[in-house]
Amino acid sequence: MPDIGGVSLGSDFQFEFLSRKETTMTSSVTAHSIPGFGGQIFGPADAEYDEKRVQYAFSSYPEKQGPGGSMRPYLVAYPRMDSDDIPAAISFAKANNKRLVARSGGHQYCGLSSGGDDTVLLSMDLYKGVEIKAVGDRMLARVGVGTRLTDVAAAFKENGVTIPHGECPLVAIGGHVQSGGYGHLLRSYGLALDHVLEFKIYTSDGMLRTVHRPPAQDRSSLYWGVLGGGPGSFGILTEVTSSASVTRITLTLRVIRASSGTRRACSAGR
Ligand SMILES: Cc1cc2nc3c(=O)[nH]c(=O)nc-3n(C[C@H](O)[C@H](O)[C@H](O)COP(=O)(O)OP(=O)(O)OC[C@H]3O[C@@H](n4cnc5c(N)ncnc54)[C@H](O)[C@@H]3O)c2cc1C
Repeated sequence: MPDIGGVSLGSDFQFEFLSRKETTMTSSVTAHSIPGFGGQIFGPADAEYDEKRVQYAFSSYPEKQGPGGSMRPYLVAYPRMDSDDIPAAISFAKANNKRLVARSGGHQYCGLSSGGDDTVLLSMDLYKGVEIKAVGDRMLARVGVGTRLTDVAAAFKENGVTIPHGECPLVAIGGHVQSGGYGHLLRSYGLALDHVLEFKIYTSDGMLRTVHRPPAQDRSSLYWGVLGGGPGSFGILTEVTSSASVTRITLTLRVIRASSGTRRACSAGR
């Protein structure tokens, strides 16, 4: 029974994603195949390539993203859930001396979830889903890395729990938890990454590892490297399990003294 930061998850601790989104796009590329990869792959010769390679947050380097720009990955590949697509992409990248880069929500400002001809881009769009359930006296939330904050917030609202997280509805959990995840609850509850109990990650040897939150004094764990060590530096994350322990938030706003001398107080709960 693994102990993850004071929470014991029994061997019967298993989630099934509530929604598994399968792609409905038709495969367009045969020229650029990755052996063993069953998901869709797009290369520069494909009509859809320009749409698929776009990273949302590119305003600081439009000349790299635009036509003729250098942000033209060798391939853009969409790994499927419950498949060996990610290890296949890792083997391919090693064999062909390419960088393997993950893109979950594409909201990294500096282009780190894209690249040039030396890059195979893994777009994690199909790794979507949120499941929330009680384990002992805790509520746990398991979230696929491609899930956008708008869907995470909706699932939390439905279940009356939350974790701290950011504002932008289209940021995805994959990059967000690795780079902190700050929002309005920061001062009381910290960052999104403070609440992560466990994540799954493919490391460079192609193995899928489940990494639990270690005791605070164990500084050698991959856990501390991935959460705060620079997104994408240690492998490809597939899902994150967090303690969704924040159950009720009351916001109390400042008392305002108007010039007439009257006082108004506002408070709101959610
Ligand atoms: C408009 C906007 C609003 C924002 N608002 C907030 C906010 O309110 N609070 C806040 O904390 N942050 C905010 N951010 C910053 C955002 O949280 C980070 O840039 C975050 O890393 C984006 O995650 P992503 O998955 O959407 O981006 P991506 O660009 O897909 O990924 C970001 C980084 O993580 C890596 N990565 C992504 N997925 C994986 C994966 N599955 N495995 C391994 N590595 C991966 C990428 O390679 C890249 O280096 C905002 C950004 C934008 C553009």
